[in-house]
Amino acid sequence: MMKSVSRRSVLAGGSSLIAAPFVLPGLTSLADAKAPMLGAQRPNHYRFKFGKMEITTINDGAFYLGGPFPIFGTDQFPEDVEELAVANHLPPKRMEIGFSPVIINTGNELILFDTGNGDRRGESAGHLQAAMKIAGFTADQIDIVVLSHFHADHIGGVMAGGKLAFPNARYITGEVESNFWLHPDQEGGRTGNTHKLAMINVKPVADNTTFIKDGATIASGITSLFAPGHTPGHMAFHIESEGKRIFLGADFCNHYVMSLQNPDWHMAFDMEKEQAGQTRRKLLDMLATEKIPFTSYHMPFPAVGYVEKKDDGFVYVPASYQLNL
Ligand SMILES: [Zn+2]
Repeated sequence: MMKSVSRRSVLAGGSSLIAAPFVLPGLTSLADAKAPMLGAQRPNHYRFKFGKMEITTINDGAFYLGGPFPIFGTDQFPEDVEELAVANHLPPKRMEIGFSPVIINTGNELILFDTGNGDRRGESAGHLQAAMKIAGFTADQIDIVVLSHFHADHIGGVMAGGKLAFPNARYITGEVESNFWLHPDQEGGRTGNTHKLAMINVKPVADNTTFIKDGATIASGITSLFAPGHTPGHMAFHIESEGKRIFLGADFCNHYVMSLQNPDWHMAFDMEKEQAGQTRRKLLDMLATEKIPFTSYHMPFPAVGYVEKKDDGFVYVPASYQLNL
């Protein structure tokens, strides 16, 4: 019977409702007004205290593509890669790859590690700037931008609308990486697009950049680790505060199932595949043996977890509340 009373007639005050205006109209309109669909929603950022530091992972967005094969396991049979996906509750032919820049407040500096996709690569990613605001940061607060390597999903956000996206920042990146990508040898061919973007986004800030090697101090408690293979000069970072350690791995592994369970499998975006596999295995082994948490750019958001050894490989254990205590 209630359903026969339209919202319009209730608002107009039908005579039978006037006697009990505070009850019936409310009930009727609740029953009639369906809540709107809001669209899929992802977490925007995740922040935890780490010794004297605060670490925030930021969701730059994601790409949706065919895979895991032939992105992961390029040296494997497609059906073996698909089988591993299905065994881990993932679809065999469609995948999401997310992007998670990290902001560390050391108490003295606000440091951004990698800049997301920026405004050049479609609508599903490049949300760093908007997400940072929601997370409580403004772009002009960033003191240091660290670039782990020069792939477009990491350097794309150095510029925004042709201007410096982080106007007060200085920059830190690997010497080997920079020398490789900014060199004219990389024009055209397989390296052409990344070279071109590096010339647009990174070359203009070269005078304000510190080029580092293995073991360099980024800030108190943060040191670089040369971790090549994904790119020739790819860098990862050890972070330590008040006796606690966390590892910022960038792209030493790129999928929480494929890269961990089969660290030696070739991956399309690893430029030196054997070397990338060796670096991956060595660092995963370190994380599992020393039981330290890590953040890595393409792990599922919020991109913080642990590594356990399993068979001849490893498994990813997402962080739950360990870092919140
Ligand atoms: Zn990447």
